[in-house]
Formats: sequence, C-alpha cells, structure tokens
Amino acid sequence: MGDLGWVAYPKNGWEEIGEVDEDYAPIHTYQVCRVMEQNQNNWLHTNWILTEGAQRVFIELKFTLRDCNSLPGGVGTCKETFNMYYYETDGGEEEMEDGGRAIKESRYTKIDTIAADESFTELDLGDRVMKLNTEVRDLGPLTRKGFYLAFQDLGACIALVSVRVFYKRCPLLVKSLAEFPDTIPGSEASQLVEVVGRCVNSSLALYEPPRMHCSAEGEWLVPIGKCVCQTGFEEVNGSCQVCKPGFYRSLLQSLACSKCPPHSVARQSGATSCTCEDGFYKMDSDPPNMACTRPPSAPRNAISNVNETSVFLEWSVPMETGGRKDVRYNILCRRVLPDERGLEECGPNVRFLPRRLGLSNTSVMVADLQSHTNYSLLIEAVNGVSELAKDFSRQYVSLNVTTNQAAPSPVSVVRKGHAGKSSIAVSWAEPDRPNGIILEYEIKYFEKEQDSSYTIIKSKETEMVVEGLKPSSVYIFQVRARTSAGYGAFSRRFEFQTSPDSSVTATSERAQASIVAVAVTLALVLLAVVAGFLLSGRRCGYSKAKQDPEEEKMHFHNGHIKYPGVRTYIDPLTYEDPNQAVHEFAQEIDVSFISIERIIGAGEFGEVCSGPLRLPGKRELPVAIKTLKAGYTEQQRRDFLWEASIMGQFDHPNIIHLEGVVTKSKPVMIITEYMENGSLDTFLKKNDGQFTVIQLVGMLRGIASGMRYLSDMGYVHRDLAARNILVNSNLVCKVSDFGLSRVLEDDPEAAYTTRGGKIPIRWTAPEAIAYRKFTSASDVWSYGIVMWEVMSYGERPYWEMSNQDVIKAVEESYRLPGPMDCPEALYHLMMDCWQRERSNRPKFDEIVCLLDKLIRNPSSLKKLVNSSHRVSNLLVEHASVEPANPTLAQSVGEWLDSIKMGRYTELFMEGGYSSLDTVAQMTSEDLRRVGVNLAGHQKKIITSIQEMRVHMININSTVNI
Ligand code: AMP
Repeated sequence: MGDLGWVAYPKNGWEEIGEVDEDYAPIHTYQVCRVMEQNQNNWLHTNWILTEGAQRVFIELKFTLRDCNSLPGGVGTCKETFNMYYYETDGGEEEMEDGGRAIKESRYTKIDTIAADESFTELDLGDRVMKLNTEVRDLGPLTRKGFYLAFQDLGACIALVSVRVFYKRCPLLVKSLAEFPDTIPGSEASQLVEVVGRCVNSSLALYEPPRMHCSAEGEWLVPIGKCVCQTGFEEVNGSCQVCKPGFYRSLLQSLACSKCPPHSVARQSGATSCTCEDGFYKMDSDPPNMACTRPPSAPRNAISNVNETSVFLEWSVPMETGGRKDVRYNILCRRVLPDERGLEECGPNVRFLPRRLGLSNTSVMVADLQSHTNYSLLIEAVNGVSELAKDFSRQYVSLNVTTNQAAPSPVSVVRKGHAGKSSIAVSWAEPDRPNGIILEYEIKYFEKEQDSSYTIIKSKETEMVVEGLKPSSVYIFQVRARTSAGYGAFSRRFEFQTSPDSSVTATSERAQASIVAVAVTLALVLLAVVAGFLLSGRRCGYSKAKQDPEEEKMHFHNGHIKYPGVRTYIDPLTYEDPNQAVHEFAQEIDVSFISIERIIGAGEFGEVCSGPLRLPGKRELPVAIKTLKAGYTEQQRRDFLWEASIMGQFDHPNIIHLEGVVTKSKPVMIITEYMENGSLDTFLKKNDGQFTVIQLVGMLRGIASGMRYLSDMGYVHRDLAARNILVNSNLVCKVSDFGLSRVLEDDPEAAYTTRGGKIPIRWTAPEAIAYRKFTSASDVWSYGIVMWEVMSYGERPYWEMSNQDVIKAVEESYRLPGPMDCPEALYHLMMDCWQRERSNRPKFDEIVCLLDKLIRNPSSLKKLVNSSHRVSNLLVEHASVEPANPTLAQSVGEWLDSIKMGRYTELFMEGGYSSLDTVAQMTSEDLRRVGVNLAGHQKKIITSIQEMRVHMININSTVNI
C-alpha cells in the first residue's frame, strides 16, 4: 500500500495512481497514457530485486491497455504495446540513489514486447470498463545476486496493476524414510537437478543412497534407491519400530518383522535373528526363514542282495528327515572275523558304487568283498546339521551279509620268459582275489591282428611254454583262472614276440625245415577250417582238438563256446527222491510271506494267481503263484514240482525266474516272477499290429537268447511256442513251461503220434514227430514257428489244417508262407529254422547274432517278403527234393542218404536190414516194424526199394546171360 519507490523517467511519463479494484479494495497502479504526443519514451524502473539464488525467475504482469480505436479521434501516434527489460547486478542500492539511472538504459536487456492478450478479464475502473491482461515471462539463467526490471512505453495507454516476480523450488520432502532438502531448480526449463536424500529415523540406505530429481517446475521426479529400517526394526507409517518378541527381521530387504520359524525363538524385542530350541540346529548357509532342524532318524527297510562277492544294498528314506532335504547316507563296511574275534574295517580294496560317503540315492553296490565271508554293513543317515549335533547318537541300520562263491579276479600280469623261434615261455601271478582254490588257468593266444582265430591251452601251473609259434611274430597272450565258481575274466592283452629264424645251424636245418613244413601244413589246415567256417557263413562255431589231459588245447573261430566248467542242466530224474531235487534247486518259502490277490490263469494242476511276496529283508516283489489243487495224488505232486526242479536251475533274463516253492504247507505252490502281460500268443492277438518291427525283433531276440542259454545248459525244451512265452511290462519275453509231463499231457496243442507220444505237431520238427529226435535243433524248428507266430501277431500256424495234413505237407517240403509285412531277412531265418536236415538249421547263438545284426542295422528289415510268397493259407515249397538214384548206392546207409532218409539207418541196422539185398525184400509192414511211421517216408522208401528191385533184376539177368 505504501510507495513502492519505483523510478519513472521522464517525470511526466509513468505516474503512480491509487485506485480501487472490483471489490473496491484500494490498489496501486502505474499508469501512462500520452497517446496524443509524438516521440514518447517513458521508463519505469523497479527496485533491485534479489534472486535468492534462483537462476530462473518468472514475471507475471497484470495490466490494462487501451484499444487505440476506442480513443476519440483515432490518434495516429497511439501504440498498443510496451517493452519489458532487465538488468542484472550484484550491487543495488547505491545505483538506485543515482539520479541519472535512466541514462544507463543502454545496460538493460530486452525481455519481450508485451501486447494485450485476447483473454483478459474486465476491470471496472470507475467510469470505464477495462480488460485486465495477464502475461507471464521467464528469465534466466541469472548469475548475479539481483536485477532490476524496467517497462518502456512508446505512446500507449497502460495501467500496470500488478508485477509479481517469483521463482519455483522443490520443497523439502520426506519419502520412504529419506529426506530431500528444499531445492532450487536449474536454469534451463528442461533441466533436472539431482538431489541425494538423507536416511532419517535410524534407517539405512538399501543398495545405494536415495536420490530424487528436482524439475524446473519445482516438482520432485524420478526417485532412485531408498532407505529402510535397520534389522530388528520395521517401517510403520514412515517411521522405524522395533520388532516384538517372537519376531525378527534379519534382512534389510525384508519389509516387516517375521514370526520366528518353527523350533526357534526370539525372547527380546528388536531381534535380528531367532535362536534354535534345544536339540535343533541351523547351518550357516540355511536361510533365516528356515525352521531349525535336527539330524535324521535311521534309514528303514534296508535289504541286501548278495551276488557272488558283491552286495547290493537298498533302503528307504528315514521316517524322520529332521526337517531337511539334504539327507545323505554313509556306508560303514566291516568284516566279521571268524571265531568271534570281532570286526575289522573292510579296507581300501572294497569298492563302493557310486561311492561310500555322501550317497544321495538310497542304494549302493559294495563290490570286491572276499568270498564266503560275513560282513556287517551299516547304513548311516546324516544331514546338514548332523555335524552340529554332537550329542546326537548316530542313526544307522545294520545288515549282516555273507558273500557267496565268486569267480576269481582277473590275472593282472603276464610275464614273458625265454622266447625261441617257435616258442615263448610265459608266467603269471595268481589273481589278487582268487575267491577260492584255483583249479586251472586258461592261456589264450593268437597272432597279433589275427584275433578271429585263437588257441586256448589249459594249465594247472602259473607258467608254461607255448610252442608251435611262428618265428619273428608277435603274439597276444591273455590268461584267466578258474575256480569251482567258474572262470574269472581274462587278463588284459600282453604282446610277446618270438625270436627270428636266423641262427639255423647246418645240422638242425633239416629238422627245422620239417617242423616248419608241419607248422605250415597245420597253419594251412587251420586256415582251411577257418575259411570253411567263413564261407559257410557260420560265424559262431568252434573246432576242438585235444592235446594232453593237463593241457587241453582248443581252437576257436569268432567264437561262442560252451566251456567245460559252465553249469549244465541236471535231469531231476537222476535224483532218487524227487523231493530232494526240488529242494536242491528251489528255495522253500514260508507261506506267510505270500499273499494271494488275484487269479490270473488256469494251469494243469490248479489255479495260477498273483500277489506280493514279502521276504524279510528283501523288497516286496510281485509274483505268480501256481497252486496244486487239493486231492492230488503223489504222482501229480511230483509232476507239479518237477517244473520247479528244472526252472530252479536256470538263471537268465529271458527264462522265467523261480522265486521258490511252498511244499511244507498246503496247497503246494510254485512261486515265479510275475509277468504282467501274460502269455505271448494272447498278448500279440490283443495288440494286433501295435508294435514296430524293431520291437517284435527285440522280443524274438529275447526268446532266442533264452533258448541259447537253455541249449548251452544242455536242456531241450520240446514245447517252445508263443503260448509258452511270458511277457512282462517292459515287453521282455521269457521262456516258461518246463517239464516233460507238460509236453506230454498238459499242452492242449499236443496230439498223440503214431508212436503214442503226445506232441505239439505244428511246432515240432519232423524228426521229433517221426522218431522222437528232440534236440536243440528241433527247438530251433519250433523257434522258427514262434517267429512266424510273432510276426503274424499270434496267428495259428497252418491255420485250420489238420495235424495229419500238417505232417504231410511239411514232409512234402511245404512250409508256412511269410506273414504279412514280414521283413524278408526274418522270413529267410524262419525258413532256415525249417530246414529238413537238422544240422543245416542255424544254432541259437547264430540266431541271436543275426537278430542283433538286424537290430543294429534296421534298414536291413526294410525289404518285406515278396507278396507272392505269402498267399494266405497256401504253403510254399521249401526246396525241391532231388530224385534219388538208389542204383548207385553201395550200402544201406548210402542208399538211405541218397533218398534223404539217412536218419533211419540206425533203425534199419537194429532191425537186421544191414545189406541192400535184405532191404530189397522189405514190405511196408517191415518198414513200420523198423520204426518208419510217417506215411510219406514209408512211401518214399518203398518206391526206392521197388526201383532197387528192378535194377537188381537187370543186373542178375545180365550175369545170367
Ligand atoms: P501255465 O500253467 O504255466 O501254462 O500257466 C497258465 C497261465 O497262467 C498262463 O497262460 C499265463 O496266462 C498265466 N501265468 C503263468 N505264469 C505266469 C507268470 N509268471 N506271470 C503271469 N502270468 C502267468
């Protein structure tokens, strides 16, 4: 309201005038209105205005400006704008006192020309209504302490009502426990001023100091970082409050105090962590919110499975894991010393697979133990806090096991002694672990890079001289030991060389030459034998030549061989008491370990059921339970258990495994492994067309492998058919149904032959039907039929043809056609299995070899059987029978061979028909008496005898002439 003290120049220019505003409140105005006069230049200077550090200030003007048109007479000099200036300076007042301040107008800098705006408000100035304009200009950057403003009028009619000079600032702010001071923005309109905040209320900066940005408009923008309460405190309504007892805050990152995790407490307020209750522990690495934990309880359900000198241990996780997920297991192995002398650590030679300590899985293999030895094995459960819990007793389960017999470990070193031109002395040390008394050693050797043909010599000593070698040649030697448990693995290969042939003396030259000649001949013979095998395509045969009883020598080619010492099948008939045979080969099981849950089939002697077998210390096992129905005779009981006496002798993944028998209680039972998919023929019919060729070949391979094992054991099955193969859930096929009685009585496919035996005609080789010649070769014939059943998904061999027609057709060389979509390679194999001459049929090991080859090279299965071969229901001709020429034969044997009836030679001899002359008199009746029962064979032999008679008459007449 007082005098502002602004300076106007010239004096008659701007005037200070008191008025009232629209509310009749008194206001100061500066006015000028010299529109009638020429050359106006009226200045109005403000006082010195302090910037207070602001670099950018705003000037808001409120004014009225007369419209020149509204003036009477329309004056030509009238203006409708004015100019605004400023002048920056650090000092002020003394200049103000300078009366000639206006002279210094040249120092002023123009801010803008100000014109009246459209958007003005009306101002009632008594008799006039004026429009009030508002204009804002900004100014910067300012660098001095203060400035003056000046308004220049060049002849307008202006009333300056208000001049407001201000700057903006970002006000003091407390946000997220950080305080940002009152801040003046930068000089540029778009500039942001970064301000670092201060954590208040005992809070701490999280990650980095908090920052904010002050904009030119005085607003706080872009917050970065923040402050949080110290640990033990939490933020409540912008301030930090202490955690209550029972709560804790250990991390700056966590928002609030948390309740102590289970088994821990915080008795004081402001806790930064909780302490574990007695008996509970925490690892340093455990997160703070994790409960306190304790060591685990002992492992459960531990079982052991002894295999020779290895023990497989398996157990279940402890009942109580102590609240942790890091349960691990340690194994402690101790040998039980004889005569109660205590226990001894197992030592470094025992291996643990995968390791002994810190096992995460619940199983371990303990290998290389001593044979026939008692061990105490402890399985200890530990977890992350076991080490901390010193007062906690060790939690373990203990198992006592006894190892079995085991083959010896490999011979580790073979040394070379004296090497001659044709001999090398070799010696070796006993294996590290003989696991029994060593009965003999086998020395295998062959010329380097000729390993398809090798020689084996046996010796009871640990040294020998190997003779018959070539001079200057490198030989590979390998040695292995045998105990009553069988052979150990061969040693690694050792290379030894014979000495050169240079030192031949004159006297020994001839002798040497003859030895060489013999050696060369032998080599050639060997080569011929090898070549013979190669050419005949037999890649799995062997030849055998005995040396002396001490050193048995065998030659092999690419070979599979049945070693002496490998177990052979023992006919239960050799036992006087059949019960003894059962208990020799089958384990007696207490009936309380078996629960019968379901009936899964019907056997000849009673129901076949399934259910779990729970042997103590062993894992529960699903089993099939064959029962012997009540009211059986002693003979039936014997026949029933017969199968177990046979099955119990086998141990092969493709032979159904016998778990044991129940004979001490009734009903008598045979317990075998459970095969989820039942018998193969039904399974294939149910899943017609569902399998890939490789899956089918995989099944066939399994069956062949099982049969190879049986034939190696010297067991002839006699009833190999898809119905007697069982399939488990992994499609593994296993041979089952053992026992002579079954072949004769049980199998519904078996029919009585002319000789009175009951035989499954469609599956049986002709020689077995004709004269009961059951061999592994006749099993191979049946295997061919099984192949056909598998490839045709369980179709009945020879469809609805009668047994008699089948026998006749097969005799006449007709064979089953290839099943639909059957790979040619498989059909060829079937046809080979159905060779009339049984020695021409492949052996099971060759079948396994071939199937393996096909599986390895699936493209070999792409080519399918030519469709003309598989006209449904029509048999195909196997091979044409060559016409015999009985006239050239010199003996009965030769004659029978020439008409491919050589198999009857023995019967003819036994029947007294040893010369062609007597044979020439034979009738059909004689043939039957001798034992030729097949009509086709009788016909063939009689025809040939008739030819023979004609021929003999011719000869005799010639003689007479
Ligand atoms: P068998 O008296 O051996 O011919 O058995 C009669 C039927 O019981 C068979 O055809 C199978 O369906 C079934 N069977 C026999 N043994 C087993 C087994 N180990 N697993 C599953 N099923 C079986």
